[in-house]
Amino acid sequence: MLTAHAVIDLDALRHNMAQVRRYAPHSQVLAVIKANGYGHGALAVAEALAEQADAFAVARLEEALKLRKGGIELPIVLLEGVFDPGELGVAAAHGCQLGVHSLSQLETLERAHLHQPVTVWLKVDTGMHRLGVEPEQFQHFYQRLLQTPSVNEIVLMSHFASADEPETGQTQAQLAEFQRCCQGLSKQPLCSLANSAAIINEPLAQRDWVRPGIMLYGASPFAGRSAASLGLKPAMTLKSRVIAVRDLKAGGAVGYGASWTAEQDTRLAVVAMGYGDGYPRHVPNQTPVLINGVRYPIVGRVSMDMITVDIGDAEISEGDEVVLWGSELSVDEIAALSGTLGYELLCNVTSRVVYHYQ
Ligand code: PLP
Repeated sequence: MLTAHAVIDLDALRHNMAQVRRYAPHSQVLAVIKANGYGHGALAVAEALAEQADAFAVARLEEALKLRKGGIELPIVLLEGVFDPGELGVAAAHGCQLGVHSLSQLETLERAHLHQPVTVWLKVDTGMHRLGVEPEQFQHFYQRLLQTPSVNEIVLMSHFASADEPETGQTQAQLAEFQRCCQGLSKQPLCSLANSAAIINEPLAQRDWVRPGIMLYGASPFAGRSAASLGLKPAMTLKSRVIAVRDLKAGGAVGYGASWTAEQDTRLAVVAMGYGDGYPRHVPNQTPVLINGVRYPIVGRVSMDMITVDIGDAEISEGDEVVLWGSELSVDEIAALSGTLGYELLCNVTSRVVYHYQ
């Protein structure tokens, strides 16, 4: 009996990519498949999207090398770039394009003698204050990169801190800062600003390249706006099975810490799914799961391998199918209940879970 498994709907991925094209019809698409394709399996995602994407983005060199080993030929951008000459040589030899955000990365490129020059994505910090060159240093970096023989093209990139919260005005401020940086450039380079939230909400930010991540996987970048309302389809269904059905008397407490007590006689379904599979430990009592397509509440704490579900007098047996999230129960709903984002839950699915692609 197959217990914890993730079913990845490749058509849903392709549908979501088509939605990106609808939202941003004039931009090229750098599909973000870092962190193992947001937990969906980076190679499988890359294969599914290879016809539709213009390039793929990952955070680190190791991620890109796995994709190359798997036969992915599209350009791959390393968003964090590389940090020493050895990595630079490997990245260049594998046809990677490089994020550049620091002086040491610039100097490594300047000192390099690459057979094949690389495309550089120069990251400007327009207000997120994570990675990126300061706006005051931008012109200096840009001019030095222009004169670096190992660099054949420069794309300008910046990242929004709050594109999912347009009311804060931060995205507008970052856009204005980006404009200021670009003023005075004799030739306008290609630019890339928009993540999923900005692709959907800020047409002005779309520019030459968009960088969708979460929307490709069919989860919402916005709290309070469902993926379905944005025309997106969830790519992952996380499933398992009932492995025991138990009677519980009124007054019986369930699980570690006895955090839930039955008020009346009831029945429990024990499901093979726990935080050892990536299901969030901190969901509260009453968080829903679907058993045979019907919602029932989790009661008691999530443990490493199991959750316990109050099924009352429903006809449920050992082996019945349980959906933890998918199209009828969104990962965003479970994330909200556990105080996090769909991003984290999707990325956190562990290697114990068996993946099926269909
Ligand atoms: N661009 C960069 C630089 C990122 O770090 C990320 C994700 O963290 C993305 C794009 C994609 O963002 P999202 O998943 O919100 O679309």
